[in-house]
Amino acid sequence: MGRMAEMRLPSPLRRALAQHARDAWPEEACGLLVGVGGAPREVVRLANVAGDPLRRYALDPLEYMRVEHAAERRGLGVAGVWHSHPDGGAEPSETDRRAAWPGWLYVIVGLQGEGQHCIRGWRLVANEFVEEELHAEQS
Ligand SMILES: [Zn+2]
Repeated sequence: MGRMAEMRLPSPLRRALAQHARDAWPEEACGLLVGVGGAPREVVRLANVAGDPLRRYALDPLEYMRVEHAAERRGLGVAGVWHSHPDGGAEPSETDRRAAWPGWLYVIVGLQGEGQHCIRGWRLVANEFVEEELHAEQS
């Protein structure tokens, strides 16, 4: 195993992710990470259009395109996808793995009751999720 890849996820983005996850509870929240060169600068919440939003998430394709075009007009791009696990950890499920695209950062917010949560980042490498260490501040 090599050194874990790292990504900066600033504190305001972490707070926004946790808030979106709590707002959507008990359903899964989901959305996009918008940034530059794959580094997230903004968090955008999208509607969860999954048939069973208590257990799954699906991004609305039209909303996705709107956010992507708006980002591109500002010189930004989609850096990744985020979603929440309303009662659990921040590890990707088998469903998450099968739905994932290579190259993108997948951020998962796990809500754990009493205002506790954890946020972890993952990237698909050779069809398996590999954790990417998320730092709050510039190192
Ligand atoms: Zn999941």
